Amino acid sequence: SDVLSLEAIEKSYNKGKPGEIRVLRGINLAIPRGQVVALVAPSGAGKSTLLHIAGLLDTPDSGRVVLNGEDLSRASDRRRTEARRNELGFVYQFHHLLPEFTAEENVVLPQLANGVSRGAALARARALLARVGLSERCGHRPSAMSGGEQQRVAFCRALANGPSLLLADEPTGNLDPGTSDTVFGVLMDLVRETGLSALIATHNLDLAARMDRVVRLDAGVLSEAAR
Ligand code: ADP
Ligand code: ADP
Repeated sequence: SDVLSLEAIEKSYNKGKPGEIRVLRGINLAIPRGQVVALVAPSGAGKSTLLHIAGLLDTPDSGRVVLNGEDLSRASDRRRTEARRNELGFVYQFHHLLPEFTAEENVVLPQLANGVSRGAALARARALLARVGLSERCGHRPSAMSGGEQQRVAFCRALANGPSLLLADEPTGNLDPGTSDTVFGVLMDLVRETGLSALIATHNLDLAARMDRVVRLDAGVLSEAAR
């Protein structure tokens, strides 16, 4: 079964006004459980808009956003927020970790917000951080860590609540090429181990080639890229 299904998604800005811009023009994309999909797009193609719609942060003008069998495109804000917290994990180019908190606390906090007990949250945070090779860094604040380490903490935070779909926007885009390669490998191992599905936007065609499938967004139209 599909974890995410985007069906006939249309999105315009300034709809019905002189500056109307049709950004997404009938997007269809189904991501089966466990599949990791690379999203490549030239700048301005509508990548951010697509990720925001898939991430339930924005709504399409028409079409459906089906997450684990449920159409959330027109669900209540409350239901969408709940789904965002429980079923989706987000990773960005910049880690957005809370600077005043340690690595461990950054992975604990989203779980507490979700009603997990402190003990269970801490155990899960430590297991995730160990999995990405950061056992020795649990008590460090982000400012005391390297860029690659910070991004690995961000992966753990994204997985803290056991999502079924990871949405990532240039997850290693701010790292130098060598570090990017290694840290991307860590992310892929983590995704594979947890059986997660993922939609990962990247400009790096070498990274894209390491995913199961590559889709290309151009001028608001999505197509399968030849491998
Ligand atoms: P990408 O992430 O691929 O660069 P975006 O999804 O951010 O593309 O934007 C696609 C197009 O929509 C661009 O031409 C952009 O200028 C325009 N756009 C994005 N957000 C808005 C907005 N809030 N209002 C008007 N136009 C927008
Ligand atoms: P809360 O912060 O109360 O848990 P939110 O709806 O603000 O609820 O956040 C839920 C999830 O959506 C979080 O994981 C957060 O990272 C993500 N999120 C919220 N707002 C944005 C945004 N503007 N852009 C990208 N991700 C966001």
